[in-house]
Amino acid sequence: MAKGVLADLKRIVGSEGASDRPDRLSRYTGDALGTFRAFQFAGRLSARPSVVVWPQTSHQVSRVLRYAQQQQVPVVPYGGGTGVFGAAAPIENCIILSLDKMNGVLGLSSYDFTGTFQPGVVLADAASVLGSASMLLGHDPWSRPIATVGGAISTDGVGYTAARHGSMGDQVLGIEAVLADGEIIRTRASAKPTNGLPLDRLLVGTEGTFGVVTEATIQTFPLPEKRVIACVEFPTFEAGFQAICGLYAEQVRPTMIDYGTESDSAARSKADEDATLYISFEGFEEDVKSQWNRALDICRRYYGVEGSQEEAVRFWRTRHASGERYKHNVLETQDPAGVRHKASSFRMDYLHVSLPISQVLEYRRNCIRLFADRGIKVREWSIWARPEFFSFLFEQEVDKGCETSPVLGQVVDEVLTLAQQMGGSMEYCHGVGLKLSHLVAAEHGSGLDVMRRIKRSIDPNDVLNPGKLLG
Ligand SMILES: Cc1cc2nc3c(=O)[nH]c(=O)nc-3n(C[C@H](O)[C@H](O)[C@H](O)COP(=O)(O)OP(=O)(O)OC[C@H]3O[C@@H](n4cnc5c(N)ncnc54)[C@H](O)[C@@H]3O)c2cc1C
Repeated sequence: MAKGVLADLKRIVGSEGASDRPDRLSRYTGDALGTFRAFQFAGRLSARPSVVVWPQTSHQVSRVLRYAQQQQVPVVPYGGGTGVFGAAAPIENCIILSLDKMNGVLGLSSYDFTGTFQPGVVLADAASVLGSASMLLGHDPWSRPIATVGGAISTDGVGYTAARHGSMGDQVLGIEAVLADGEIIRTRASAKPTNGLPLDRLLVGTEGTFGVVTEATIQTFPLPEKRVIACVEFPTFEAGFQAICGLYAEQVRPTMIDYGTESDSAARSKADEDATLYISFEGFEEDVKSQWNRALDICRRYYGVEGSQEEAVRFWRTRHASGERYKHNVLETQDPAGVRHKASSFRMDYLHVSLPISQVLEYRRNCIRLFADRGIKVREWSIWARPEFFSFLFEQEVDKGCETSPVLGQVVDEVLTLAQQMGGSMEYCHGVGLKLSHLVAAEHGSGLDVMRRIKRSIDPNDVLNPGKLLG
């Protein structure tokens, strides 16, 4: 089958536009969900694509999708491949639709504060081209050096400056997309239209299950006149959390909130350990100064002590270090698939739940009990961007030959279900992918059926990224 598909795809995109060579496929055989983090789903990571196709225009994307519908071959859209839940992981014998070659900057306007990008533009490149036009990209994840505009929209990612600018999806003004049946749609990049369904939301946070983003106009921001970056130390996680709630209650508007226990602290498995708040403000000078003064005042009420300026600046400068490491250690190697699936004695997860503010501390106490009962070490508790966004990183040693870790897989399900039961959402940052799709029904109830009906009307043969977000 692969040979026939390859020849057909080459007729659409040209002879250099598709390949089934193993060395070309390795880059696309998986995303950042390695076996060390997949638990009971590790087996699904052995699926292999049959072909990768690199379209260069939305019309080619459309023809590929129409062809896939006819042949009933699954298609997985692929941006930077940095998603952590396997949303871009292949389905056996699928076509990988890589957006690598659709990486142009289509327009910038420092008058309108917009940038229009093709989906394969890496966020760091988008930020840099905007910077040269005196504008800021509001989405600044750890993975800025490696993730793409299309991938960030499709996962509705969250970054360092989300306290002020919101998620990537919040910044989308308009898109062009090819729906799963090959139909090309374009939404108007105008602020707040009031007529009809906002069809761009079909593409935001839906992990390439409804369509492929082929162009996006993003709201950009002026370069700030002044930026203050600071850090504040707290004696306990709870004290700092209360301070962050105080900032919100008094309508202080930080650009960045990055708060948490030290992951490399010797006391890291204790329930109440020192925690550090990294905070920034951006804007015009008088406003930034008064916002920071009020913020420091609030932090002091909760026993916060200002840390060194050097430490705050070091944090800001190194904020993309994990993305750079991933680029160097995985993406730039000869065999990214081999590196991702390397055997390891280390199993971990890093979860990002969204809870009502009133439930965060109680949820954390429940998790501390649950992890202690299972003998699992928690390395970090944190809050990102807003008090509702609560994250925790935990790990366990296992035998090297052991592919799965049933205990960790079960614990992940338990803590995410608990977040749902406490009125929250199981993920605010990374989407669902193949790893969390079994928990989507509990999250959306009958809403999931509505989503599936919409999906069927656009994708009658379920070819676009099946088995992921919508199960
Ligand atoms: C070291 C590291 C740090 C990270 N830090 C952050 C962080 O701070 N914040 C954060 O939010 N995430 C973070 N992530 C996760 C990841 O970078 C994000 O989920 C990112 O948005 C994915 O972008 P991508 O281009 O790699 O998409 P991919 O992984 O290629 O794809 C993600 C999903 O989007 C779909 N897709 C991709 N392109 C398109 C398109 N054009 N049209 C339709 N669907 C498409 C894919 O099918 C898949 O379902 C991190 C990951 C790593 C490895």
